[in-house]
Amino acid sequence: MKFPRLPADNRLDAACRVLRAEVREFLRQELATGGFEPECDSWLRGFNREFTRKLGMRGWLGMTWPLRYGGQERSQRERYVVIEELLAVGAPVAGHWIAERQVGSSILRHGTEDQKQRLVPPIARGESIFGACYSEPDVGSDLASVKARAVRIDGAWKITGTKVWTSQGHNADHLFVLCRTSDGEGVKHRGLSMLIVAMPARGLTVRPIRLLTGEHHFNEMIFDDVEVPDSMVLGGEGEGWKIVTGDLAMERSGPERFMSTLPLLGEMIRKARAMPEDPRAQIAIGELVSRFWTLRSMSIGVAALMEQGYEPSVEAALVKDLGTRFEGDLAQAARLLFPMIPSLDSDDRFENFAAQAILHTPAYTLRGGTNEILRGIVARGLGVR
Ligand SMILES: Cc1cc2nc3c(=O)[nH]c(=O)nc-3n(C[C@H](O)[C@H](O)[C@H](O)COP(=O)(O)OP(=O)(O)OC[C@H]3O[C@@H](n4cnc5c(N)ncnc54)[C@H](O)[C@@H]3O)c2cc1C
Repeated sequence: MKFPRLPADNRLDAACRVLRAEVREFLRQELATGGFEPECDSWLRGFNREFTRKLGMRGWLGMTWPLRYGGQERSQRERYVVIEELLAVGAPVAGHWIAERQVGSSILRHGTEDQKQRLVPPIARGESIFGACYSEPDVGSDLASVKARAVRIDGAWKITGTKVWTSQGHNADHLFVLCRTSDGEGVKHRGLSMLIVAMPARGLTVRPIRLLTGEHHFNEMIFDDVEVPDSMVLGGEGEGWKIVTGDLAMERSGPERFMSTLPLLGEMIRKARAMPEDPRAQIAIGELVSRFWTLRSMSIGVAALMEQGYEPSVEAALVKDLGTRFEGDLAQAARLLFPMIPSLDSDDRFENFAAQAILHTPAYTLRGGTNEILRGIVARGLGVR
């Protein structure tokens, strides 16, 4: 494998500092006027169409995309700053997360002119929610074994099969569906295509799957002869594997992979300040903050590499592996340091955040590719596998 030029320049410039101040002021006002309630893992559980639209109106969605498709032609690092600020306060960003993080860029990269013009600007305006239908009941890590099948009919395709864990599938305006469209002459990666399904879709049943918290975030999606016109096949028949692997690289590269539980760290610091005589909390928090700062520096480096036109999938896999373990360790440290009965209904923000962070912990190292799979990618990138 060819390594990019290193080290990546992971500094944030003056434009980023100005932007950060704008985002902070916006969030301060939103919090002051009850625009949202902060929470841990807000990019998974914080669904708020109105808030998403406000971000779109400010030009903070699809920031790096071309102006003619509703973007702002700003840098990856500027986008990074916006995301970082939103996650730090636990703002409700789940509605647009998948569309903004990966779908829009995939359509820009692989779509027809008509698909770009029709589908991308609404994402940038915060008006279009997407769900990603990749995983299946027996297919997760080994994604190329997808069994949902799309069969050719006149001018269209018909999808039959079951997808699981589809985040925001019940709220989505469109779905990105990875399907088998041929046997790929015996090579499983070759027979896959990415179909875009407009919602609501006849023949599609959406069944909720509850999180440990009881919340409805993801779904089982049962496709029974769901019809998709030819014009909604992305990148052409048989291009699904190329699209989904590019998509996953974007999915793994962002700061959400180590910031899901960060609002809890803020509450831990507040609690530790109230007990200066106990050094245990200060030592543990110091360790967490230094780990966080290292991850942040690495993650900005990933954004910088993307800005230079690289696809840093090995670097992103490394940050995600280290970052998702950090998220769980943070929740665990809160539990060990401060005696409490974490409750989702507690009026105490620390207990409330702790309950959210702890109950979501099993998901951190699973979603977007498990840590075992990521380590395989890193090992292959290093040439030791
Ligand atoms: C909160 C959350 C949201 C999600 N949202 C979506 C979504 O929107 N859309 C979507 O399509 N999917 C989504 N997923 C599914 C997610 O992508 C899968 O759970 C993940 O890819 C793992 O697949 P699996 O659950 O089938 O586990 P499996 O692939 O069955 O893995 C089980 C275990 O075996 C290990 N393992 C598997 N293969 C190997 C190997 N080759 N080497 C070493 N170890 C291995 C894994 O690491 C894991 O520990 C979501 C998951 C979660 C938790």
